[in-house]
Amino acid sequence: MDEFALIRMLTTGRRADPRVVVDIGDDAAVTMVAPGRQLVLTCDAMVEGIHFRRDTLAPEDVGFKSLAVNVSDVAAMGGEPRYALVTLAPDRAWTPDELRRLYDGLYEGAAMWGVTLVGGDTVRSTGGLWLSVTVVGEVTAGRALTRGAARPGDVVFVSGPLGLSAAGLDLLLHRPDWADRYPRLVAAHRRPRPRLDVGRLCATQGVRCALNDVSDGLVSEAWEIAEASGATVRLYADRLPVHPELAAYCREVGASPRDWMFFGGEDYELVGAVSAGAWPELVRAAQAEGVALIAVGEVVAGAPGVLLVEDGRERPLPKGGYNHFADEGIERAR
Ligand code: ADP
Ligand code: MG
Repeated sequence: MDEFALIRMLTTGRRADPRVVVDIGDDAAVTMVAPGRQLVLTCDAMVEGIHFRRDTLAPEDVGFKSLAVNVSDVAAMGGEPRYALVTLAPDRAWTPDELRRLYDGLYEGAAMWGVTLVGGDTVRSTGGLWLSVTVVGEVTAGRALTRGAARPGDVVFVSGPLGLSAAGLDLLLHRPDWADRYPRLVAAHRRPRPRLDVGRLCATQGVRCALNDVSDGLVSEAWEIAEASGATVRLYADRLPVHPELAAYCREVGASPRDWMFFGGEDYELVGAVSAGAWPELVRAAQAEGVALIAVGEVVAGAPGVLLVEDGRERPLPKGGYNHFADEGIERAR
């Protein structure tokens, strides 16, 4: 199958979008831009053997997840994702049918998050598949939520349980036959759900709010907020809820849920900071939409850094949560 037939096979017959003026098939796509809005632009690549393996992700999961990680970045800016561009580089081991399944997963996510695929590029890889997804979103002018907006006295919160994806990866790598018994862990790893709802909520409150998505682990993201804001983030270990399935898996394998919760990554929940005064209203607004935000710490004056209060003792947490998983031989998609 030549490149053009492949692109046609992957992209025709999918949902149309009235905002797209020139669709796939020309030199570039053309779309409408709403007045009073700003663009939010992001891209992330997934590389076979680095970010995923064929025994841990099905082709559909690779497509779904490659879009999800980008949508999560847009959510963390308080934006709305609109368009995606995909550079696809399969090696010869990937059949047209498997690529079609990858695109099915991609389009499944696109429908879920209101994203239209408007173009891309197709090239050959000499070893392993990689794909790079670019997402274009929009946000009300001046309302994007950055990492640098945290101030001493703020409440630090997360949008949901953490550590499930890392535990799911551990399961898929070491105990794949347990997958049916831990569906939530496996789904967290294969089918992450970016928190557009929470990003939207924070952006529409009209209050100062720092926001970041948890791609590399809570500690790493808290460090990013601390450095961008010029303050210290203090986290309380016992305020982070342990998801029952994570607790059960950890009991069964003799692991500590805290390592995965603090350093695991690929959760694609959001971590944020708002003033203590704005916090109760944000919690109420979230509750009204069925979202339970969890206060896990506070911002205090001091040098950029992250402190963990655990069993009544406070200790600084180093930045490098990521190295924790170096021995897994698999890197996380950011
Ligand atoms: P050009 O040579 O002008 O760059 P291409 O021949 O590479 O265009 O692509 C033709 C059309 O198909 C363009 O609209 C491009 O955006 C789209 N396209 C190419 N590869 C992909 C892909 N993997 N997924 C989605 N659209 C693609
Ligand atoms: Mg051209």
